[in-house]
Amino acid sequence: MNIIILGGGFGGLAAANELRENLPQDARITIIDKKDWFMMDLVKLWILNGTREFEFSKRPLENVTKKGIEFINEEITKIDPNNKTVRTKFRQFHYDYLIIALGVELAPEQIPGLTDNGLVLYELTDVPKIRDTVRKMKSGKIAMAIMGLPYKCPPAPYEAALLIRSILEETGTSDSVQIDFYSPTPITLPAGGPQVSEEILQILQSKKIEFHGNHKTIAVESKKVKFENGEANFDVLIAIPPHKVPTVVVESGFAQNGKFIEVDRTCKTSYDHVYAIGDVNQIMVTDKIAVPKAGIFAEGEGVTVARNIIAQIKKEQENASFDGKGGCFLETGKRIAGYLQVDMFASPTPLTQLQSPSQDYFSEKEKFERERLEKWL
Ligand SMILES: Cc1cc2nc3c(=O)[nH]c(=O)nc-3n(C[C@H](O)[C@H](O)[C@H](O)COP(=O)(O)OP(=O)(O)OC[C@H]3O[C@@H](n4cnc5c(N)ncnc54)[C@H](O)[C@@H]3O)c2cc1C
Repeated sequence: MNIIILGGGFGGLAAANELRENLPQDARITIIDKKDWFMMDLVKLWILNGTREFEFSKRPLENVTKKGIEFINEEITKIDPNNKTVRTKFRQFHYDYLIIALGVELAPEQIPGLTDNGLVLYELTDVPKIRDTVRKMKSGKIAMAIMGLPYKCPPAPYEAALLIRSILEETGTSDSVQIDFYSPTPITLPAGGPQVSEEILQILQSKKIEFHGNHKTIAVESKKVKFENGEANFDVLIAIPPHKVPTVVVESGFAQNGKFIEVDRTCKTSYDHVYAIGDVNQIMVTDKIAVPKAGIFAEGEGVTVARNIIAQIKKEQENASFDGKGGCFLETGKRIAGYLQVDMFASPTPLTQLQSPSQDYFSEKEKFERERLEKWL
């Protein structure tokens, strides 16, 4: 029995560990990833505020082999569900079960001028540049802009804005640096609803971060960002670029019209024994709202899929369904964080509540990372 997991990120690692803990050793579980390390994306925010370094935050994916999960460090170039194979540059693998957990690809090239004139918050190599630029700023304008929907971790750009304000407070230049935040959405966090969006808006305003809703970016020029409905000047531009489905997923015919792989709460694709979990998929909750792209949900979907595969192999009743419950932290600086508690499938509409920022939630955020690294790697 060959179970292959494409992608050793949040979802892939959660699925692999659940499978390994519940299946005998003759079931082969293999993770394939082009990277040989894992680091939670949330650590990028700690690299941004200078409390962490990449070198000390990543873990080798090879560590999974200690518990009997195989790891192949190669780029996947083709998924062929008709022949139940996966191809990398160097070889081909046959699978009995396949879990696609390839995340998203960032697509800054979709916004003309962005790569030359802006920094990308979600790009690991740009994060230290943002940190150093902000630290050196004496005065001027920082523009932050969400440039495409959906994007990973809806509150993360707001956390970044708050952490940047916090850096400026430390360097003593906060009063002379303006921060403007542009989003294509009318409110800060549409998936969280109007109440939570208003609470986030108030937190931003309390830190003199000006939120401009309904601003869809169309291009960037030197020191100028252009929207469908106007333009704004900046000294430093920090972008959350459009996200796209990974190329190999598109080329293998899994994504129709550039859409993320559409699945229901079982994460089953239209192919037998092939599942799509995490950021690479799209699970609609209502006709307008989808499950947000977040690690906590990738993890929940990974465990759901693993349990159903285990049930099939053990010839038991298959009854796991992704529950849509979880939470995301909203870090506000100086080791303080709020907590967004989410129940995506609550009736009649998704439910999100923001628990007030505190030191305790910041400690919970640290624990969130620590516990998963200990368990997975
Ligand atoms: C700044 C920031 C802060 C965040 N904070 C939080 C948070 O506090 N809480 C939270 O729940 N979520 C958070 N997120 C979101 C979270 O990181 C993602 O939603 C999560 O990583 C998705 O998991 P995944 O398994 O779907 O994809 P990923 O974790 O992105 O894993 C995908 C893997 O596939 C591999 N891959 C892709 N293509 C190929 C290929 N062709 N061949 C081989 N390997 C390939 C990649 O190398 C990668 O390892 C944050 C994101 C950002 C950017």
